[in-house]
Amino acid sequence: MAIPYNKRTHRNGELRAENAGQTVRLVGWVASYRDHGGMVFIDLRDREGITQVKFNPETDPQAHALARTLRNEDCIAVEGQVALRGTNINPKLPTGEIEVEGRAVDLLSKSDPTPFEIDDFTKANEDLRLQYRFLDLRRPAIQKVLRLRHDIAKAVRDYFDAQGFLEIETPVLTKSTPEGARDYLVPSRVQPGSFFALPQSPQLFKQLFMIGGCDRYAQIVRCFRDEDLRADRQPEFTQIDVEMAFVQMEDVMEAVEGCVAGMFRVAKGIDVPRPFPRISYSESMDRFGIDRPDMRFGLELRDVTDVVRDCGFQVFSNAVQSGGVVKCLVVKTSEGADRLTRKITDGLTEELKGIGAGGMPVTKVVSGTNGLEFSTGVAKFVQPVCEPLCRQAGAGPGDFLFFGAGKYGDVCKHLHHARTRLIEILELKPSTEWNLLWVVDFPMFEWDDTEKRYFSTHHPFTAPRDEDVDRLSTEPDKVRAKAYDLVLNGTEMAGGSIRIHRRDVQQTVFKLLGISEEEAKIKFQFLMEALRFGAPPHGGIAFGLDRWVMLLAGKESLRDVIAYPKTQRAVCPLTEAPGPVSDDQLRELGIDLRPEVRARLEEKAASAQQTVHRAHDEEQ
Ligand code: ASP
Repeated sequence: MAIPYNKRTHRNGELRAENAGQTVRLVGWVASYRDHGGMVFIDLRDREGITQVKFNPETDPQAHALARTLRNEDCIAVEGQVALRGTNINPKLPTGEIEVEGRAVDLLSKSDPTPFEIDDFTKANEDLRLQYRFLDLRRPAIQKVLRLRHDIAKAVRDYFDAQGFLEIETPVLTKSTPEGARDYLVPSRVQPGSFFALPQSPQLFKQLFMIGGCDRYAQIVRCFRDEDLRADRQPEFTQIDVEMAFVQMEDVMEAVEGCVAGMFRVAKGIDVPRPFPRISYSESMDRFGIDRPDMRFGLELRDVTDVVRDCGFQVFSNAVQSGGVVKCLVVKTSEGADRLTRKITDGLTEELKGIGAGGMPVTKVVSGTNGLEFSTGVAKFVQPVCEPLCRQAGAGPGDFLFFGAGKYGDVCKHLHHARTRLIEILELKPSTEWNLLWVVDFPMFEWDDTEKRYFSTHHPFTAPRDEDVDRLSTEPDKVRAKAYDLVLNGTEMAGGSIRIHRRDVQQTVFKLLGISEEEAKIKFQFLMEALRFGAPPHGGIAFGLDRWVMLLAGKESLRDVIAYPKTQRAVCPLTEAPGPVSDDQLRELGIDLRPEVRARLEEKAASAQQTVHRAHDEEQ
């Protein structure tokens, strides 16, 4: 009689010594198979773990005969009795104290030999694993991540639910929302020539929820951004999206801190200290050269413009004369300055040239006969200002100084790069494991020198600080935004803002961004309309769930925490999406491919055809 596989008694991670003697029914996949002098041992795997099943030819000849035919990844059902393993305990398995003596086994589905080994030590390359993701998913390490992801998402939902937030869905076929990336477009068949955009975020919908009286909203939602995938990005990703009415910055930040604390509790079992510290954008740039500082390390930057302006070193005086700055990064002896070699400093200088720095002057502080002196590098040029320079930089004997001179933004960028690399090269130990902090007071706008216009630092719906509103038309670069970013160990993990809820202010901001009334009407008419009808003050935030799971799971890539990720080329190796569509489909949509695109597609199809023919010929 067939084993009723729908009536399993346990999962494969469950059985313990106290279950000894029980009759159990298990299902799963053969993770490994061993034939030890007649006894057949099978590791049976399911989502929850592994249980060893033993088949004895003496006591259960029928089951044993079938068990001998099993191979890895066969899908089976087993009935048997739990027995203690005695001296053969496997301490690496939670079920390692027991085994199941198989009395009966059913082969539910035979597996072909798999293209790679299904275990956590597999050496298979990622493309192959993603192509056969359904096999890859069977690996315990991936199951663990999927479980963690589920637990985190649940903690987030439970938290927001308890705080009175509603999860409300927003459309996927929609209109462009500017978040700074390219849109994924979906052609409309019914309105040929018109396109939906997949949401880069539900930004405007959540603002309209607030205007619509929904009060508090939190959604775990898929967003789409067509970006070049140099860094670890995914074209579709999951965001925890939040909006609250009648709030100030503090309220949103407090709500988020509670949510983040919940995520740490489920993922790491720790209580992160609250409230998270805050740093202003300008302080962060001054001290770390970046708006998402990793404050677990020292190596801070100091402004030394005033001290060096007249020291006679041309690199510095040129920078100062053209309105720039001179900053230095101090590596103290306690931070491994004594391990800095010429090779390291030269290597770093070369690297910096690669990102547009002219070079990177370096020197070292030593104690000389008359007090502090500089030695090596640019020592002789800065010697005249040694004392004040060291004072300003907080440097003492043995410390190294790395300089950056030029435009403020460039100097910050270069010294941030140097800082990051020095932390790596010197293998500095972080002061804590998790450094959570808020960066606030971002500038509203960034000037783009190439396009000669302002861009929003966050997005165009972000409110200016009340005391800066009047500066909107006079000194836009001085306007600070009611925006906040949550940073974890130097990575931006969430970003949000209080929104503009006054129509006139929104109009002014659009104008400043070069968005004409006409364009605003086409793109944001519904928002402008909504702002006429008693919009409450409101604000919110969004954080990338994938990145949180990645960090909390200790994984290196977003692809490790997404069930079916895209590759760096934005394709899905499993389904081979995106793919071509038929001429009929294109015709229906009123779309004609450009001749050069069509030619390329035809070429590709022909070469695929040839490969098939060749394979066919070889087979014959
Ligand atoms: N919509 C923003 C984003 O996706 C977040 C926010 O302002 O709430 O980055």
